[in-house]
Amino acid sequence: MSFEELRDQDKKYISNTYNRFAVDLAYGEGATLYSQDGKRYVDFGSGIAVNTFGANDAQWKQAVVEQLNKIQHASNLYYTQPQAQLAHMLCEKTGAKKVFFSNSGAEANECAIKAARKYSFDKYGKGRYQIITLKNSFHGRTIATLSATGQDVMHRYFMPFLEGFEYADPTLEGIVSKCSDFTCAVMLELVQGEGGVQPLDVNEVKKIETFCKENDLLLVIDEVQTGNGRTGKLYAYEYYGIQPDIVSTAKGLAGGLPLGATLFFDKCENVFRAGDHGSTFGGNPIACAGACSILSRLTKDLLLEVQGKSAYLFTHLSRIRNVHSVSGLGLMIGLETSKPARDVAEKCLEKGLIVLTAKNKIRLLPPLTIKKEEMDFAIQVLNEVISE
Ligand SMILES: *Cc1c(COP(=O)(O)O)cnc(C)c1O
Repeated sequence: MSFEELRDQDKKYISNTYNRFAVDLAYGEGATLYSQDGKRYVDFGSGIAVNTFGANDAQWKQAVVEQLNKIQHASNLYYTQPQAQLAHMLCEKTGAKKVFFSNSGAEANECAIKAARKYSFDKYGKGRYQIITLKNSFHGRTIATLSATGQDVMHRYFMPFLEGFEYADPTLEGIVSKCSDFTCAVMLELVQGEGGVQPLDVNEVKKIETFCKENDLLLVIDEVQTGNGRTGKLYAYEYYGIQPDIVSTAKGLAGGLPLGATLFFDKCENVFRAGDHGSTFGGNPIACAGACSILSRLTKDLLLEVQGKSAYLFTHLSRIRNVHSVSGLGLMIGLETSKPARDVAEKCLEKGLIVLTAKNKIRLLPPLTIKKEEMDFAIQVLNEVISE
């Protein structure tokens, strides 16, 4: 099928929810991808922070295929080795006590919301159900996670939304002003991804943590995008020196397969009992085998490499003329320029560089294994497009 035929079929048969870029990605290796017609691209998107080690990674593929050769799915009525192994790894690496597996970021957050409300119900009875999230946040596309998302543009059409969410400024004062006797949890992204690659202030986050502890509010950290090495730590909360009660993650966890995880720390380890929550596909053995392979390689050394690459990109990107600011953490980087972000992304694509946007910013989320030559290519293309 030619690209034009593909585009026509997509338009005819696929629901119009995506404003796609004009390329059909067909194969690749690491951060170098090719369209069906053989044009080469350097990938600074990783399928939105999903392909942690890029395309076609040999070690990851071996783990996935090995599991595929055994059994592809068993359901959660039975035990499977990869799921238990992955839960063990996640708990060992983070200090979490228990894990619930799902298939996506939204589901990982749904689980976190249910767990926070159940924790409060068990301890305080009915009525303490409110969750404070942040203005400009993004937590997913289901009705509950849209309700948790603090952006008005997300709250058109699909009402009524779920009750019990308040949107605060990302400061202690902001949280306190929204807090009431009905509050059970505070949920936040430490670097707002979709909201424009905005890191929260470390001191404010620490103060919020203290406030949560004093008032027995669960601190839920949405690490769907920031997790799994993306920021140069295994999870971004490590930078902030805080101890969350619940962490949700997904995107990069399984290196390209759909998998969500909700991590429960001490307070809410036993909040769920049999029947309280579940998922047919969640914790699928193939996805879990992929995730075990990814996690086993997110070593201290690899994370240090990510930090080094991040510093290199921050330095060179901030020198580009017409770049007003460079924000983010690790290999999650936002560029503010005076040009419309979508135009910049389309021009980059024409020149063989895949970048993303977030609000008015260019968003860069390369595979963690991005090479120096690939970074230099990206810097050069961004320089051409932005400074022209
Ligand atoms: C992408 C994202 C989600 C939603 O994840 P899906 O897998 O698309 O459901 C939730 N929270 C954050 C912070 C995200 O970046």
